[in-house]
Parts: sequence; structure tokens; C-alpha cells
Amino acid sequence: MLLTVSDIPDDGLIQNLELPITLDDAGNPDIARASLKIFKIKNKVLIDGSIKIDVSIKCVRCLHEFKYSLDETFKEEYNPADEPLNEGDQQPSGTEPDLGFYRNDRIDLAELIKEQVILSLPMKSLCRSGCQGICPVCGKDLNKGSCTCRTEEVDPRLAPLQKLKESINNRKTS
Ligand SMILES: [Zn+2]
Ligand SMILES: [Zn+2]
Repeated sequence: MLLTVSDIPDDGLIQNLELPITLDDAGNPDIARASLKIFKIKNKVLIDGSIKIDVSIKCVRCLHEFKYSLDETFKEEYNPADEPLNEGDQQPSGTEPDLGFYRNDRIDLAELIKEQVILSLPMKSLCRSGCQGICPVCGKDLNKGSCTCRTEEVDPRLAPLQKLKESINNRKTS
């Protein structure tokens, strides 16, 4: 899905796109619905967009795939790659859109949308708040009930150690 920069009319362009998106660890593509308002100011391209997608991702604790509903708006700014930014081009911090560059009069909108989806995903996604994860010993999904591996009594003096062990296990599954 390539946008040709010189084709953008002076009064802007609206693109409504449906794009299949596959993230690395998920199988079937999910459809992203994006609406983009595209403007050109001299060589600079401004894209004001919104994306909706129910994207398949894996829970970092139990590794089950689940649908994460994403509804994001974003602003992206593209400059021609061979033109360095002047200091005067910088926006006040906080409102600064992500800076991108385009080459050969082309912007890959599919790439932009995929990038925005990835940026909008939480770093550690849980299928539900308080997901119990899987037992590191037997692999049982602890959301469906406890297993026998963890029933041994923990000496209260060793409890902090047990906590540490758990946090290490949690880190392993993330
Ligand atoms: Zn989970
Ligand atoms: Zn177990």
C-alpha cells in the first residue's frame, strides 16, 4: 500500500484502509481498519490517523493467545530522507509527532499502520488482570485450578525467597 507523495492534492487526501496485519508470534492475520488524513506542506507529509483492530497477541504469563482491542489515534510526520531537519522545524516537546522519512516520493502506508499497531501494544500483555500463568513445573494453566507442584508448605522465613523464585519464573514466561 504505497502512497505517492507528489499525488497528494493541495487540500489533502483521506484514505480508508483495511489491512491484514500479522504480528510475529501470531498465526492468522487480523484486519486493521485505518482512516488516514494526509496533508502535504511543501515536502513534508503529515498523517493524522486512527486505527481499530482486534489483534491476536499472547499473554506473557499463560501464553494463551487472546484478542486485544486496539483503538488508537496517531500523528506521523514524514520528511524527505535526503533533507536534514533544520532546528527551526522542531516542535515544542510533548506535542512532537514521531518523525519519519520517505524516499523516492513513496510512503508505505501498510508499514506505517503495522508500526503504529506495534507501538500501541502494551509491553506486557495479560489475557486478564491477575492471570495466574502456567505452572513452571508441570505446565498446567493455573487459571483453571491449582496443580500439586506448589502445595508444599513454605516456611514463613523462606517466603521472601519463594517470592523471588516466583518473580524469576514470571520473568521467564515473559
Ligand atoms: Zn494469561
Ligand atoms: Zn504444577
